[in-house]
Amino acid sequence: MFYLACFLHIATFNARRKDEVSSRRFGLQASNIFVVSAEMHLYQALFYCAKGSRDWLPFFVNQETFDAWSMLKELQTVFLESKPASKYKGSLFWRLAVGRFGFNGRQTWLTFGGDKPQMVDFIKLAAPLLTGIPRLQPHTCRRFYALIFYYRYEDATLQALAFQLDHKDLEAARVYISEALANLGGFRLPIALSAEKARIRDEYLADFPEMADVRHEKFVSKINEILDGSATSGKFGALVLRLASKLSARADYAPLREELRAQKLASELKRKGYDLEPFPHADCMAGSAGRVNAKCFSRQSGTAQKERASPRLCSGCLYSNTVKGHVVNLETLFASLKAKAANEPIEQRQNVRARAHQSRMNDLEEVIALHRQRLEEDCVV
Ligand code: SF4
Repeated sequence: MFYLACFLHIATFNARRKDEVSSRRFGLQASNIFVVSAEMHLYQALFYCAKGSRDWLPFFVNQETFDAWSMLKELQTVFLESKPASKYKGSLFWRLAVGRFGFNGRQTWLTFGGDKPQMVDFIKLAAPLLTGIPRLQPHTCRRFYALIFYYRYEDATLQALAFQLDHKDLEAARVYISEALANLGGFRLPIALSAEKARIRDEYLADFPEMADVRHEKFVSKINEILDGSATSGKFGALVLRLASKLSARADYAPLREELRAQKLASELKRKGYDLEPFPHADCMAGSAGRVNAKCFSRQSGTAQKERASPRLCSGCLYSNTVKGHVVNLETLFASLKAKAANEPIEQRQNVRARAHQSRMNDLEEVIALHRQRLEEDCVV
């Protein structure tokens, strides 16, 4: 149970994969954490990034990670004292088996999985009021981190999240936050859910009301930015200001302080079905309602098909809201496309793929210029 608690802490607070925390060879080791400033509770850890960089990379870690690592390290010292000849250098997630006469010298490595009885026991202990034990896969910790990071922190950017996840491309990081709620159960959603599965998922998500809260807070802060007159590009800002002006005649809205106005307005917008879904290029505020005038609306399905979202499509949509951070994301993407094009061998620069690449770059360049112009004018278009 102790090892499981340490594992969940370290994996969740650092968005690490199972093997990056606990595998025998690449898990967290005794020499992997350094104190940067004890006074400021600032620590740095080396984690092996198993899929992207395939290398040991430094990340800042919090006090809880440091405490869990310190306890594991102390325990390892105790084990190694009873096995002095050992030159063990692997992860801290092991223990000595205990026999009739104390430690018997056999090392056991600990692995975690959603179905393991220890995980089920742990959830029962940690959340005794939970009815039905959800399958908590180790990868859930990574998704959980992405969700909290993006919806909780004021200046969260996809770039910072992608760095922490060790993703080379922002799209992969976006998938983590837009699908994370649905994936908290440890499974990926099929494209069409049966009514029964949808019911089970909704019941499951209802066990995480705090996630809905942080999402709502992010939505309110976006509304606040628009009311404050912060520079945004996209038509959603105009819609919010129109609604605010309508509400300002109402007796329950006019006397409210600014932040309460933003909350009231956000509740009104939620009541009308609007909600926030983050993309690297914009926040989509369309929510889940039909939205016939969304740029990605499909007559065939009768819904907005957000899987078609793109910088170009969303830049003209009534429900998009783009701020400076999104434009920085687009510029980073443009720079990486440009670098890729420059590395193409000269003889391949005119083939179909290269022309499609060039057209994507041209498109992106135009959209960036459009947003830059709107943001510099400091107006809601
Ligand atoms: S076009 Fe973009 S902003 Fe508009 S509804 Fe679709 S995904 Fe959202």
